[in-house]
Amino acid sequence: MLMSKTLTRTICIKLDVDGHEATLAATQRAFNAAASWIAQVCWYEGITNTNTAHHRVYGETRLNFGLGAQLAVCARAKAVEAIKAVKARHEETCPQFGPRGSVRYDARTYRLMSLDRVSLNTLDGRVVCRLVLGPRQHAMLIDPAWEIGGADLVWRRGVSYLHVTQSREAPETPEASEPDGGTLGVDLGIVNLATDSDGETFSGAHVTIVRKRYHLRRQRLQTVGTKNAKRRLRKTSGKERRFQRDVNHGISKALVAKAAVSCKAIALEDLTGIRQRVTVRHEHRYVRHAWAFFQLRQFVTYKAAWAGVPAHLVNPKNTSRTCSACGHCEKANRKSQETFLCQRCGFTLNADYNAAINISRKEWAAVNRPMASPLAG
Ligand SMILES: [Zn+2]
Repeated sequence: MLMSKTLTRTICIKLDVDGHEATLAATQRAFNAAASWIAQVCWYEGITNTNTAHHRVYGETRLNFGLGAQLAVCARAKAVEAIKAVKARHEETCPQFGPRGSVRYDARTYRLMSLDRVSLNTLDGRVVCRLVLGPRQHAMLIDPAWEIGGADLVWRRGVSYLHVTQSREAPETPEASEPDGGTLGVDLGIVNLATDSDGETFSGAHVTIVRKRYHLRRQRLQTVGTKNAKRRLRKTSGKERRFQRDVNHGISKALVAKAAVSCKAIALEDLTGIRQRVTVRHEHRYVRHAWAFFQLRQFVTYKAAWAGVPAHLVNPKNTSRTCSACGHCEKANRKSQETFLCQRCGFTLNADYNAAINISRKEWAAVNRPMASPLAG
């Protein structure tokens, strides 16, 4: 199997805190006073375990420093980590933090909003600040290859910065050499989300069931129409998206790992292919799930890039109608969604498998061309 490790990087972004300077300063003071106190408690009581630390200091942190639940958790995390770092260096001094030391934010205490806004937890609830983004920082921030993690609010010489952490998996040996094991063709569809030219299928059956469940829930909530129902409707569609994203992550990871291990390149149909090949009775069904296809291709492409696996786009013309045994091309070859039966040589195979083989043999239409994404952000 492919060995992988996690890479992290930090983007330092200047913050425009216009109007919130005093609130942020007060939050920093309270946060660092709390972290210093927690560090002392843990240091002198010999607590290094995160859970033990939590139970010992959580209530008092909230009571004495006015921090909300999540910021209290972040202060404890900062203190415990600092102690571990000090001990790792075999030093004998309890770590303490200045009043303008950094404030740690996690997924529950900060949120990157559309374009260039960030919402931060403070002593006075959430405040929204503007990110002063240069083109490079912007590109780093929206890069789909990197997952956004926590952030630190850092104050330096009168200016506030947000240090956003990103991480991604990377293979230990990202050899970018041209593979010699041939090409793994991948056919994307609705019934089978992905089928490769080795005949491996990633079924969409489970996904279809879950989608149906979400669909029914949506319908029910739409007929209710109350404010609460609308809120739950938004929540439901978020859940569905996350489910689909997880499925796409799983499939793309498996495909790329397989190509990497067998030294193969990956070939996918060019973007327009989906539209031509998916026969959908109800147009809206295509529209609703189009983003899922785009996302799956996007995931395959960027994961291939990390793994040093070349990803190629091929012209989708006739891939589903051509016989992979004799090359005969005819519309009637595709008997049904599921079955391919050659009208000339009688060769029969699962239709998606047959298409994937054809894709693996196609001339490369474009090499490593970046795919346009409707999912930016
Ligand atoms: Zn044939």
